[in-house]
Amino acid sequence: MTPDLSPTLARDAALRRLVQAFAAAGIANPRGEARFLAEHALGLSAADLLLQGRTPLGAAGAQALEAAAGRRLAGEPVARIVGAWEFWGLPFALSPETLVPRPDTETLVEASLRLLPERDRRLRLVDLGTGSGCIMVALLHERPHAFGIGLDRSQEALLTARANAAANGVGGRAAFLRGSWLDAVSGPFDLIVSNPPYIASGVIPTLQAEVRGHDPMAALDGGTDGLDAYRAILAGIARRPGLLAPGGAVALEIGYDQAEAVTDLAEAAGFREITLAHDLAGQARVVTLRPSLAAI
Ligand code: GLN
Repeated sequence: MTPDLSPTLARDAALRRLVQAFAAAGIANPRGEARFLAEHALGLSAADLLLQGRTPLGAAGAQALEAAAGRRLAGEPVARIVGAWEFWGLPFALSPETLVPRPDTETLVEASLRLLPERDRRLRLVDLGTGSGCIMVALLHERPHAFGIGLDRSQEALLTARANAAANGVGGRAAFLRGSWLDAVSGPFDLIVSNPPYIASGVIPTLQAEVRGHDPMAALDGGTDGLDAYRAILAGIARRPGLLAPGGAVALEIGYDQAEAVTDLAEAAGFREITLAHDLAGQARVVTLRPSLAAI
């Protein structure tokens, strides 16, 4: 149940009530989530929340915190309530059309950076299904002479991605364009990167309510076997070898059980140097590949 928070209640007492309510609701990290929501709802830094714990909530604070706690207890993830999340140590705004960035996806950024080892080269990058732009913005942040294009079918996601690139100081080296996979671009690119939708349609009803109910379906649903996006992307690159610059590479995030299937698809499409990168849980999370020599 949402705790009743009166305007005269001290911030630290309110926080305790939230932690209790979140724990009772089975939320895995009740203390961390309560703190994070309180900071945002009350507009305080972590330090101020701690140091000024005796200050009463006030009418606006009590109302904002109660509303945020109510949404969390109704199953909405903290990132959605706050409308922002951190990725690669950088802040990202979210919209209903963008996935909440996952820590697993940092594996995709790391693998991409390994494919682009020269920090100061002038590179051209493209991100397919860019969503919040978190992957592209992280890459541009790490490669200061790179230029990146983020493609998405959702106009709202493109607005969010543009704002995120600007807020993180890379807006001048990024363009966000509407497009389905690679149709809208010509290349050549040094890297084609994507975290496409890869959940099999039949599995979607079994996902956690926080994912199923709040992440955009277009960013999750990978078709009957979850592999539709990989087929489209790999076929698109195989058909248009000029999309990749000489030495250019592809990095794709995959689901925990898709390494073999995506490797097979890549081999069948004529790619070589197919490697896997693993996430912190030890799951194969990224496939990287290059086109066959015959194609370049
Ligand atoms: N990793 C996401 C999840 O577990 C799925 C993201 C995707 O399909 N690209 O929900």
